[in-house]
Amino acid sequence: MKPTIFITRKLPDELVAPLKEKFTVRMWDSEEVAVTKAVLREEIAQVDALWTMLSDTIDRDMLESAANLKVISNLAVGFNNIDIEAAKEKGIIVTNTPDVLTETTADLAFGLLLATARRFNSAEKDLRQGGWLSWTPMGFTGMDIHGTTLGIIGMGRIGEAVARRAKGFNMHVLYHNRNRKLETEEKYDVEYVELDDLLKQADHVVILVPFTEETKEMIGERELSLMKKTATLISVSRGGIVDEVALYDALKNETIFAAGLDVFETEPIPLRHPLLTLPNITAVPHIGSASVETRRAMMKMNVEAITDVLEGREPKDQVNSLASAR
Ligand code: NAP
Repeated sequence: MKPTIFITRKLPDELVAPLKEKFTVRMWDSEEVAVTKAVLREEIAQVDALWTMLSDTIDRDMLESAANLKVISNLAVGFNNIDIEAAKEKGIIVTNTPDVLTETTADLAFGLLLATARRFNSAEKDLRQGGWLSWTPMGFTGMDIHGTTLGIIGMGRIGEAVARRAKGFNMHVLYHNRNRKLETEEKYDVEYVELDDLLKQADHVVILVPFTEETKEMIGERELSLMKKTATLISVSRGGIVDEVALYDALKNETIFAAGLDVFETEPIPLRHPLLTLPNITAVPHIGSASVETRRAMMKMNVEAITDVLEGREPKDQVNSLASAR
């Protein structure tokens, strides 16, 4: 009997083909609509490998029924959608797709910063609605990027790639992590500061920490109140790190200038969400790594990891360090 794989979203045939040559592959039949919980639960009970998307919640309860499952390969670098501990207890390897998406996500983060601070969205919306009646001296004036201070919360792989872009805009870069990175400080001329100091000093703040128990709502009312009235907040890592109620208040009361969001507490964000009523928000639908090349590269990593595990090899990019547990 060939090992069986379930893929939780419809993916391009040519990327799935190498798996089909060796294994039995079942795939959810929609690209737009996520797999139902019932189907996911049923498949988890049967399959040897699961290829997941960041929108699939693989919690302890869901993993309870896993009988043969050996590997979960997630099409993302973040893996907060999977209960890593529960998987580890069941001897299931979890892998992710770091590095290949770093530059693409940094492009999006920096692009979102430019769009937000310079108000691309509201200016374009106004133009399309016929609001461009004449050139106006102070119309759609935003905040400068070049020569200002950028604060990066989470100076990891993507954080560093954003810092490199910022240097091209002659920005002074502050960062905050749990651990200082002296080599990075020297290499990219960036300065370590405590979180509160970063929030007070930065003209633009970019959030690039993973979603964990520690980072959940790490930017709330108190933190937002420390930011400059002219500052922008860019959230590109995961929803839930910024308290959306507090963010709504800060934007509505203009205690910060604007926010650019690629990620939300609930995804897709409900159309009636109060944040979407605000003019000083630029919102995109979780497209950080969404370039053709990068998504294909990420998928190839998933294929390699699943193949490795099913053929008895140690896969790259394990996030639940099972090797040490075995
Ligand atoms: P990474 O290399 O692991 O970097 C994460 C950084 O966050 C590390 O430098 C880490 O440093 C810091 N950090 C972790 N916990 C922290 C805390 N409690 N307080 C302060 N700093 C903390 O990860 P990456 O590859 O850059 O990716 C970052 C995140 O971006 C991913 O986890 C994912 O959620 C998100 N992402 C989103 C998209 C998208 O489409 N929007 C695409 C790719 C990635 P310390 O350990 O020293 O604290």
